[in-house]
Amino acid sequence: MRIVSLVGNRPQFVKAAPLCTALRAQGEEILVHSGQHYDPELADLFFDELGIPAPDHALEVGPGTPVHQIAMIMERFEHVVRDEGPDAVLVYGDTTTTLAGALVAAKRGIPLAHVEAGLRSFDKAMPEEQNRVVTDHLSAVLLCPTRQAVDNLTAEGITRGVHLVGDVMFDASRMFAPLAERRDAPVALGLDPGGYLLVTIHRAAATDTPGALDDMVAVLSSLGQPAVFPVHPRTRAALQAGGRWDALGQVPGLILAPPAGYLDFASLLMGARAVLTDSGGVQKEAYFHGVPCITLRDTTEWVETVAGGFNTLTGMDTARVREALAGVAMPAERPPYYGDGHAAEAIARAVVAELG
Ligand code: UDP
Repeated sequence: MRIVSLVGNRPQFVKAAPLCTALRAQGEEILVHSGQHYDPELADLFFDELGIPAPDHALEVGPGTPVHQIAMIMERFEHVVRDEGPDAVLVYGDTTTTLAGALVAAKRGIPLAHVEAGLRSFDKAMPEEQNRVVTDHLSAVLLCPTRQAVDNLTAEGITRGVHLVGDVMFDASRMFAPLAERRDAPVALGLDPGGYLLVTIHRAAATDTPGALDDMVAVLSSLGQPAVFPVHPRTRAALQAGGRWDALGQVPGLILAPPAGYLDFASLLMGARAVLTDSGGVQKEAYFHGVPCITLRDTTEWVETVAGGFNTLTGMDTARVREALAGVAMPAERPPYYGDGHAAEAIARAVVAELG
């Protein structure tokens, strides 16, 4: 079986690390990189650290609005799909790259497999929600990380081709934890293990309006304890353009760092007292590593972490963040919400069984 898989940004590289190996054990994989993330610290570093095979095709779409990127990826990806003639196209998650790949597969009549199918925030204003809903409705094989994801698809009338496989990010976390444990990323930044907060913020809702940027600065200025913030290029650009970057650099105890590689980031996460984030993947990784999570959004797709008391939704709201920080704790038992660490093999088997 011949599968063309499309990746394009940081969380997709992480998910591809275990899945490339599993897919190649079952058939032939042609890996395509859209170029949606083009900064070396968000892209090349991940291929190197995680041992992801070099892409067979690089679409190199580069910067632009989501609409521009979707159009560019679609046009270039169609050429690849036409030339490679795959049995299936596989896409990951909920990004611009995901949607563009799904539309090309649908228009060319090639069966589509979607990794991380069925997740919903029920917030249609979120670009990621738009991308994942459309992709799910075009997919022949829907690879769900959680029971909740299966239930969400059932509620939308999608029951064929649905597989509960577990979460590939859990596979990646287990695979790379021994390497991450050998890094001393907190110490390298002068932080005491267990005595600091880790922050990530990159979603459009937090960066794309002056009011949202003011809220972010207010939250980060109010933490009152050591914290490290590896700043996503999009967030940094928004803070710099709005003239807020220098003020943030003056906040006592707050370290503004470049985006970390996967291993250093995992090392920082493992040593953190708690993580504050608007990332989807980081919410789960906090759970994997037993670190309390404060999610700077009002919704999440990873509802089981909230229901289980591992994750608190605060929005970008100083008072709610302060309250959540005062009460951070980790329940002793962590149920296996995300499978057994072998989601990648389960995905490869499901794709071959459905489409091979
Ligand atoms: N990550 C990283 N370095 C950082 C911040 C995050 O390696 O400085 C990793 C993190 O461990 C996770 C992934 O990036 O595996 C999450 O990506 P992101 O937050 O960009 O996207 P989302 O998960 O929200 O789609």
